[in-house]
Amino acid sequence: MRIVSLRQPVTVLSAAAITLGVFHAPIAAQRPPSGDRAPKLIVLIAVDQMRGDYVERFQHQWTHGLHRLVSQGAWFRQATYPYANTVTCAGHSTIGTGTIPSVHGMILNAWWDRASRKTVNCVDDETASTISYGKPVPTIGESLATLRTTTLADELRAQLSPSGRVIGFSLKARSVITLSGRRPAAVAWFDDLGTWVTSSAFSKAAVPEIADFIARNPVERDFGRTWDRALPRDAYLFDDPALGVHPTKGMTNALPHLLKGTAVEPDQQFYDQWQTSPMIDDYIARMALDVAERLKIGKTPTTDMIALSFSALDKVGHDFGPHSHEVQDVMIRLDRTLGDFFAGLDRLIGLDNYTVAFSADHGVAPFPERSLAEGLDAGRVMPAAFTGQVEKILGEALGPGTWVDRFLHTDFYLAPGAYDKLIAQPSALERVRTAIRALPGIRDVYTRDDLIADRFDDDPMGRKIAHSFLAARSGDLVVSVKPYWIIQATGTTHGTAFGYDAHVPLILMGKGIVRGEYLAPAEPTDIAPTLAFLASVTLPNVRGRVLTEALASNPQARKPRS
Ligand SMILES: [Zn+2]
Repeated sequence: MRIVSLRQPVTVLSAAAITLGVFHAPIAAQRPPSGDRAPKLIVLIAVDQMRGDYVERFQHQWTHGLHRLVSQGAWFRQATYPYANTVTCAGHSTIGTGTIPSVHGMILNAWWDRASRKTVNCVDDETASTISYGKPVPTIGESLATLRTTTLADELRAQLSPSGRVIGFSLKARSVITLSGRRPAAVAWFDDLGTWVTSSAFSKAAVPEIADFIARNPVERDFGRTWDRALPRDAYLFDDPALGVHPTKGMTNALPHLLKGTAVEPDQQFYDQWQTSPMIDDYIARMALDVAERLKIGKTPTTDMIALSFSALDKVGHDFGPHSHEVQDVMIRLDRTLGDFFAGLDRLIGLDNYTVAFSADHGVAPFPERSLAEGLDAGRVMPAAFTGQVEKILGEALGPGTWVDRFLHTDFYLAPGAYDKLIAQPSALERVRTAIRALPGIRDVYTRDDLIADRFDDDPMGRKIAHSFLAARSGDLVVSVKPYWIIQATGTTHGTAFGYDAHVPLILMGKGIVRGEYLAPAEPTDIAPTLAFLASVTLPNVRGRVLTEALASNPQARKPRS
């Protein structure tokens, strides 16, 4: 029949028309049989700055959503980032893509662009503009233009038929954009000026369903509210206030915190306080559920996705530290927030129809003041003074001049020509290395040639720094601090490969997942490939593995706990 048809073009066209009309449309509208095991919905959740050990430390107080994840999910207790720059943009990009910063390109939250001689933020895009859901926001827009691979979200959209639709919400643009990909159906984040926004890269105009939620739920309703402990004071660990606390934005150094700014009406300080409270996490979860329902996310014959990043813990952790009542309370409240959120998904999508992946973009170091009080070798490398010291060391090797263009995170970007001049003189380079290594808190220093060559078989830390290195965006000299030292003048931070920064939770739950505690090594790079496997899509360039031991479709998967 086919041969005959090929000789008769009219018949071929007719056959094609019949095929398209009769067969293709219904097939396209239904998942193939292999898709039966695919979830209707993937829920990708990142909790900004959640250390892996917070689960062990605080889970006895969780009774709702976090409890459900730990008790009913597949909990990978040793999940650790395999790279050094454990910062927000890098972590979310890694979760979103399944690969590492040297591949996806999001090496830091911001890097020095040698061509334009400017610091650029990871998701900044000068060709895009900000679309505000409230007051005007006069900044350039954001996009995923700098990401060098695709996200799981992109592939759900591109490979499935009907296309998987993605919605995403967070406080931070860099967190939600890197999870929700290049063409989300709806995406929003909170601008520092105090309004929800999106970018012209994702939407020509405000999404009506988001605008409607915001109109019904003004952030300003929380003006004048107090954030107090959810449980009695004696239910909290550690001293209060914590040693080393550095509250900003009008907060006091201990709970309760009155969110009232300085004025009789919501002002900038109020919006800063609101972002540093559990109220923003609760708002984001409620917004996601509402918009998902309105857009019928998870209700079509494909795999959709909700991407959420909860940032209150990061804001609070930087100021109050991992040993604070504030951090413990954010976790208690996130447990309740996620309990309501999952209950909403059970109602909308059905208990057995969605799969959750839960992780964090990085952990956090204790305050150096606290570590010192515990007798540890710890301290602060003051960025400005440290830059001056390195400038002086370079001057002694290269002669008078200004040799450092910019110091960001751990990276020294040298003036044009300076690096080539330095490596052309091996003895001068060695003197520079020795002098920088001798500075307080500094463990080692690597050159860009070291990191490009990646010959670190005997130096696991060097290899992890290489995993965060991309020549076009990284510095010429990259330093590494000793454990419990941070390069920051106040508060605390993260951004090393040490366990407190790199060990994070990794929990899968729901359709296709066998619950249990899994002690095998795992990485957040494993999340996207595992979810891609469940949804039957292929990622182009992953480092992570499919976490087969937790998959119900794996005959080897361990039996559920009774
Ligand atoms: Zn972060």
